[in-house]
Amino acid sequence: MSHSVTDPSRRAFLLGKRGSAKTPPAIRPPWTLSEADFAARCSGCGDCVDACAEGIVIIDADKLAAIDFRRGEGLCTFCGACADACHDDAFLSQDERCSSAAWAWRAVIGNACLAQQGIMCQSCKDACQTGAITFRYQLGGVAKPELALVQCDGCGGCVAPCPAAAITLGKFEASHV
Ligand code: SF4
Ligand code: SF4
Ligand code: SF4
Repeated sequence: MSHSVTDPSRRAFLLGKRGSAKTPPAIRPPWTLSEADFAARCSGCGDCVDACAEGIVIIDADKLAAIDFRRGEGLCTFCGACADACHDDAFLSQDERCSSAAWAWRAVIGNACLAQQGIMCQSCKDACQTGAITFRYQLGGVAKPELALVQCDGCGGCVAPCPAAAITLGKFEASHV
């Protein structure tokens, strides 16, 4: 399913929206428990930070593990090393992880997108390893990005390369991905 990024009605998503657009919900590492359970169990020890070869796990202002796609390699490979390193039972068990989605985060391309404003750019497409972002060519116009949710795994690899900081991650209902 290919979704136009300019149609907000198609962004049927955002579970657990916390706060305003200026304070988006934290992205916890993949396979973590629900936010409330995670907050109760994560001690902020940093073992998952050290375990992440991609360098994207941080301890945030709440002293909880979180993902920052602007650090390190800028994407999650879903290797599971963060979960393996946790001694606080803040993640699903290894067995549960085998049968559970890593997370519900998926990329959202916002209005700051340069291509949406007629400026040639395809950096997000170049960064996406799953082919989730395609560009529809328009006669006499600049091609605009389209995101196929079913192909996006929320790895975050497109976030940092976007020169306009137009890409964020939103939590999508399972029926939409
Ligand atoms: S799954 Fe791997 S790459 Fe992703 S945050 Fe955990 S340790 Fe880092
Ligand atoms: S990289 Fe950013 S600005 Fe460029 S086309 Fe993609 S979303 Fe738009
Ligand atoms: S989050 Fe990852 S899979 Fe999804 S569009 Fe961005 S680079 Fe592609």
